Amino acid sequence: MVFENVTNTLDKASKVMNLSDKEKSHMLSFARVSHTTIEVDGEKFLAWRIVHNDALGPGKGGIRYHPNVCEDEVKSLSFWMSIKNSLAGLPYGGAKGGVKIDPKHMPKEKLEKVSRSFIRAFHQVLGQDIDVPAPDVYTDPQTMGWMLDEFEKIKGRHEPGFITGKPIVLGGIALREDSTAKGGYIMFREIVSALNKKDVTVAIQGFGNAGYFFASMAHKHRSNVVAVSDSKGAIYNPNGLDINEVKKTKDEKGNVGFCKGDKVSQISNEQLLELDVDFLILAALENQITKKNADKIKAKNIIELANGPIASDADDILYNKGIFVLPDVLANAGGVVGSYLEWVQNKTGMIFEDDYLAERLEKIMKKNFHLVLNLHKEKKVNMRVAAYTIAIQRILLAEKARGRV
Ligand code: NAD
Repeated sequence: MVFENVTNTLDKASKVMNLSDKEKSHMLSFARVSHTTIEVDGEKFLAWRIVHNDALGPGKGGIRYHPNVCEDEVKSLSFWMSIKNSLAGLPYGGAKGGVKIDPKHMPKEKLEKVSRSFIRAFHQVLGQDIDVPAPDVYTDPQTMGWMLDEFEKIKGRHEPGFITGKPIVLGGIALREDSTAKGGYIMFREIVSALNKKDVTVAIQGFGNAGYFFASMAHKHRSNVVAVSDSKGAIYNPNGLDINEVKKTKDEKGNVGFCKGDKVSQISNEQLLELDVDFLILAALENQITKKNADKIKAKNIIELANGPIASDADDILYNKGIFVLPDVLANAGGVVGSYLEWVQNKTGMIFEDDYLAERLEKIMKKNFHLVLNLHKEKKVNMRVAAYTIAIQRILLAEKARGRV
């Protein structure tokens, strides 16, 4: 169960902060849990929109389409959004949505109907100052475009700030497309420069929005990306993969595993996780490293671009092995920082220059990285516990200022 990871890490952070039982149970309660069944063309799909905490501002978090979506997962993801948004200093609470669906085997027309139905079901609990969705696994700018259109049709007014990650023509920003990977890449560079090492090897699990853009940035700046994977398989080249070729193969044939070339070999996803590399980038789904395989991990540094890819029972094992883990709530915050900049633009009606937005992202990511790193060193706790500590303190400060706890 993913929520166990939340409670276990909260327990550890509670000790650092000396949280009272009341404060702890407040952090484990949810501001709003909305759940429905969507019916499209005679088929039924379970759907959720959950706000974990709204002390700092409106709920903010993506909508996931995946066959494994369940309440436990959406709750965990919304909790992580509260932590991530607070840590990044954004004026947002944490939220997440999901539809239990297999989008890979569904025509576009049906996906549009599902997306519009989602909005018809939840529009009363959504809005630019209530709860602001965005893309997540298997949802994209097109999904956001359909959702915006349905929302504005119901409300009878324009409200582009109701959703982020939209197509640019509807008020989206160019930065948002790769801001998750960019944010992670900014922190990757900070670690590499501290390592004082010229060449580093990188393995990447997941070749979607987060994984592909990270691979492409690393490749462009001459890091050695030796392995990548998707849900169907993985490829490895000790001399480094040509990421442009891998992307071409993925687009044309559907899977990275079809990529051929001198020294390119097919490996399993498990083997990818266990490669002896400088950096392992986790950019797929939850619970990829657990106590079952944590002992076999040889990477020296791990960056969690995905949400919750390391189970809490594996965290201590990796820490004791001396592996440096950059936790999800810090490493993938570039996505929500990009969303925030899009939302600010929508709400103010101002149009910001791309360079300004990129500079803002870089500043926020670097500042947060060093904030967490300093506490990690000072308290001798892992980076995740340090990140939770900073984030929870800010949420509880807002709760106290409101007189709620
Ligand atoms: P995506 O749908 O674009 O890509 C997911 C990728 O993971 C695909 O390549 C898929 O084939 C692969 N995959 C799925 N199961 C796998 C497995 N078992 N082994 C290897 N690969 C597997 O999704 P995304 O937007 O890139 O999101 C990936 C992760 O990053 C998720 O955990 C998401 O919550 C997180 N994230 C994404 C964003 C964002 O802006 N896209 C922001 C923050 C966090």
